[in-house]
Amino acid sequence: MSLHVCPCGSGLAYTQCCRPFHAGKAAPTAEALMRSRYSAYVLADAAYLHRSWHSSTRSSKKSLVQSKGLHWEKLEIIHTEAGQSEDQTGFVEFIAYFSEDGQAQHLHERSRFVREKGRWVYLDALPTTPLGKSEANT
Ligand SMILES: [Zn+2]
Repeated sequence: MSLHVCPCGSGLAYTQCCRPFHAGKAAPTAEALMRSRYSAYVLADAAYLHRSWHSSTRSSKKSLVQSKGLHWEKLEIIHTEAGQSEDQTGFVEFIAYFSEDGQAQHLHERSRFVREKGRWVYLDALPTTPLGKSEANT
């Protein structure tokens, strides 16, 4: 599969969007890092997910290998807070849509990002506020 449009949904070409980060460039903002991590999930780039994750909280590389039945559909950024070039912390609330074994699902998360050795990394997930519609989670 050739990737013309970036999997993160920015509308930009992959080479103009998340690819430079996957190739080693530092993400300028927490949101850019968040997008590049979503793209890495789509592309099953476990090594990138591992190194863009804070060393104190990250999962092992092995656990980042995804099941074959999982298919990422879409990323929707709800809200971002701080996470700019002058900040040390940033928050990105998002919904990631995916299907697993044919079942449509989504992950709603407010992620916390911090800098480690000057680079944005994912730290952990914080509780989200309800979106106002109730959904059955099984
Ligand atoms: Zn992108």
